[in-house]
Amino acid sequence: MIKLYRDFIWWRTGERQSMLVEGDRVIWRGHGEAPHAEVVDLSGKTLYPAFIDNHCHILPTGLDLQKLHLGACQTHQDVLDAVRDRLAETTPGKWLLAVHYDQTRYEGGRHLTRFELDQVSPSVPILLRHVNGHASVANSAALQAAGIPEDVENPAGGTFDRDSSSRLSGVLLESAHELVTHKASMPSLDEMVDAILTAGNHMASLGISGASDMMTGRFDLLKELRAYDLAAQRGCRIRTRLYLQWGEVFRKDGNWRSPEVQSAIESYGDKIDCRIAGIKIFADGAIGSATAAIYGHYSGAEPAGHAISHHARDASQHAPEGKFTSGQLIYSPERLKEMVRIADQAGFSIAIHSIGDYSTDLVMDAFESLPDPRKHRIEHAMLLSDAQIERLGKLGCFCTMQPEFLMRFGHSYLRQLGPVRASKLERFRSVKDAGIPLSLSSDRPIVAGDPRDGVKMAHQRPEAFDSSENLTLEEAIDGYTTRAAEPTNDSALMGGLNPGQLAEFRVE
Ligand SMILES: [Zn+2]
Repeated sequence: MIKLYRDFIWWRTGERQSMLVEGDRVIWRGHGEAPHAEVVDLSGKTLYPAFIDNHCHILPTGLDLQKLHLGACQTHQDVLDAVRDRLAETTPGKWLLAVHYDQTRYEGGRHLTRFELDQVSPSVPILLRHVNGHASVANSAALQAAGIPEDVENPAGGTFDRDSSSRLSGVLLESAHELVTHKASMPSLDEMVDAILTAGNHMASLGISGASDMMTGRFDLLKELRAYDLAAQRGCRIRTRLYLQWGEVFRKDGNWRSPEVQSAIESYGDKIDCRIAGIKIFADGAIGSATAAIYGHYSGAEPAGHAISHHARDASQHAPEGKFTSGQLIYSPERLKEMVRIADQAGFSIAIHSIGDYSTDLVMDAFESLPDPRKHRIEHAMLLSDAQIERLGKLGCFCTMQPEFLMRFGHSYLRQLGPVRASKLERFRSVKDAGIPLSLSSDRPIVAGDPRDGVKMAHQRPEAFDSSENLTLEEAIDGYTTRAAEPTNDSALMGGLNPGQLAEFRVE
């Protein structure tokens, strides 16, 4: 069936155009009319290509959307009421999981306790995750289900909080929180498929048609691969690209983790709805927790918090001659190089999370040692010097940034780096002008992830952030469309509404 979309404004040029679509593809777009087609009149609205969110976490987004959301609660009682209401719909044997708990907004800034939650249910495990993602509150059933005894010792980098009578209060910090969360949140295959479909619906409602999952394998790689494939078969509303966690694909020595993993990856196929796009590696942490590996010191009052992974080491251990470095590196520079070489030799595109400037130098060292760095990606690259931008431009690898971070986490950047360094975070303009293939993305679910917010933040950075790094509106939209298709090799397929591409668009 051929459809003619007529009388719209083409976003980039402001011209009135029409577009002919056959099946799922654009076959023509320009001035004029076409006969023998079903006509859809867009009556002067503006037509844009659909957004592509090329760095986000799809399954976790869906799982979060299915959890109880406490964002509207103002008091302890609000939280307890919301949990009690939810209890009625909780399947026996399942945990009741809530997100966006934030004791700083409730009376006296006091945490709820396990005993208050026990009054809601002594038998259903309840876990409220803090909005900052580093803490939670559990009831007694949750502690029990997670195998935490009353006399538990604190794990490295975490705390099981205790009350004045030395009883576990239910408040879990950092690695103690992660330990219990891990026990609570292993979804079944069906739950994963549902969550991916839920995320797809939500993202499609924001005008997104394609997305890259940047950490496939956080629960169970084989199950997740299967779930994304099943979700695609069941009509998931976004096209998914998967970046698999290095350690779930390879053993330390570079061999496949298992024959099952090898065959699942090799037989996954190259479907346009869902395919494997690469390997994900984390090089450092984040600015808010003072764990991004930076040159110099953090100016924040709190020192670096917990260890960001069990591999993590203090960045200062590897500081180059005459330089001071802070934060954490997940791998030594030598190990990072080796991991990159292994993934490259296996034919993968590699995406590396690197936020601090020191970490980014090490990532560039690693990419530079490869035959062709251009197919690889650096994720975030929030802190970059002029010299680093020049170097990145020469390397030619992709770079994706998350403008919405400036709006959501700006205060913590200012606190941790001070106003001068913070104002230079996310140098969109300089990166783009250096010819680096720059795309923009959300990193949801840690932010709300409406691409319109991202576009706005890239075009008009918030007040504390240097406005000379603003992109034009067209460049910002390009960052979420045309440019966002490049790292996954999807340029022929999506992003521009050109003939031959998928007819995925939004009108405003
Ligand atoms: Zn991410």
